[in-house]
Amino acid sequence: MENNLHIFNTLTRRKKKFQPINPPFVGMYVCGPTVYGDAHLGHARPAVTFDLVFRYLTYLGYKVRYVRNITDVGHLENDADEGEDKIAKKARLEKLEPMEVAQFYTNGYHRNMTQLNTLPPSIEPHASGHILEQIEMIREILSNGFAYESNGSVYFDVEAYSTKNHYGKLSGRVVEDLLSNTRELEGQSEKRNNADFALWKKASPEHIMRWNAEWSVGFPGWHLECSVMSTKYLGEEFDIHGGGLDLQFPHHECEIAQNKAASGKDAVRFWMHNNMITINGQKMGKSLGNFITLDDFFAGNHPLLEQAYAPMTVRFFMLQAHYRNPLDFSNSALQAAEKGLQRLMSAMQTLEKLQATNEDDSSFDVRALINNMYEALDDDFNTPVLIAHLFDAVKQINSAADGKAYFEANDLVYLKSTMNAVIFQILGLKATETKSNQTEKLGEVVDLLLKTRLQAKADKNWALSDKIRDELTALGFEIKDTKDGYEWKMVV
Ligand code: ZN
Repeated sequence: MENNLHIFNTLTRRKKKFQPINPPFVGMYVCGPTVYGDAHLGHARPAVTFDLVFRYLTYLGYKVRYVRNITDVGHLENDADEGEDKIAKKARLEKLEPMEVAQFYTNGYHRNMTQLNTLPPSIEPHASGHILEQIEMIREILSNGFAYESNGSVYFDVEAYSTKNHYGKLSGRVVEDLLSNTRELEGQSEKRNNADFALWKKASPEHIMRWNAEWSVGFPGWHLECSVMSTKYLGEEFDIHGGGLDLQFPHHECEIAQNKAASGKDAVRFWMHNNMITINGQKMGKSLGNFITLDDFFAGNHPLLEQAYAPMTVRFFMLQAHYRNPLDFSNSALQAAEKGLQRLMSAMQTLEKLQATNEDDSSFDVRALINNMYEALDDDFNTPVLIAHLFDAVKQINSAADGKAYFEANDLVYLKSTMNAVIFQILGLKATETKSNQTEKLGEVVDLLLKTRLQAKADKNWALSDKIRDELTALGFEIKDTKDGYEWKMVV
């Protein structure tokens, strides 16, 4: 198995060194959301990252089956297989049916993902719809001797598995270290080893989501659903498995072990992990007061936000960083991304209107620039380098509009089709919505009021003119009368 995040260094457009197991089909599984809360930036990054992979591989001609699950069961509050199911807890607190909670937040997730212009996956299986298959996989693992039953629960036996297999190979953990705490556990836990993880948990009396199995009335462990649903829809061996870096251990390490223990095969050819997001240099967390949902971002509804940010600004900002690098959100960085995206989109409008020159050649090497763009994409989806090349093109386009550069006819056609494909099809950006709708609409409303005020002044209706000025001022707008009319800004 390839445990190297740089795998797509070998993916080149013309040589096609990336070989799927069964070309032209590519199977890609990505860990989806646990649906018990509003979607936030932590959901947006894997969605945008693997949307790019989906879009680019499709663009290259692969037939990609993209499976992304919905975790609506069995995800306990901590990795030690203890605590309450997060969805069930929310359901209990809000007096709802757990599936009502799951559906509500699934709808919100879908709405946010559409706003970010991510394409829907080919299949979106729910964990709760695959309980029988999960029970079946537990039976296989048990009968192969890699799990044990304890007090109605079933645990994966990491020590037994490690005699012939390398538990820890994805995350670089040393299994001896993971197993070292064994003694302390004696008599205090159902587990033989601290490193063992639950395949099946017996339900406590207050646990709502429960199913019948031979071991107990209970529910499957979280890691199991991804092993089951990925192989069910993509086969025992498939090409790409993605997810956030925080899932590498234990979630993905456990998936590897479960698959090997059940089928004897390594299911995944290539693992890809997107790195984490910080806000103003800090990890995102409810207790830190910097937990910003996507709805907050798009509406500007959070004390840390100076303005609303359009979904396309958020998407473009994410693509400006390599998916393997951490990414820090700040107002200044987002505002710079907003400006950059507007510059890119206005250059696309200029490009559409550009005429070719009569010269035999363009004033710069258009083909080399385009090659650089595809090379960046082939280099492990290196979007920051790709975007730098796009801005090289923007410079040339703007120079050509000023008469300082020129394009030969074929070069111009080639550049237009490439820029359109790269920006809209592959990066998935949209020309409209570079500014947040709210910000734009607000500006239009203020302009409307101030134009009415100008009319009132012309009509010598001083009462109305003053009223508009005073009330806008009270709302936090700074109004300045000028020679030709007015200027305004919002005071934050
Ligand atoms: Zn998963």
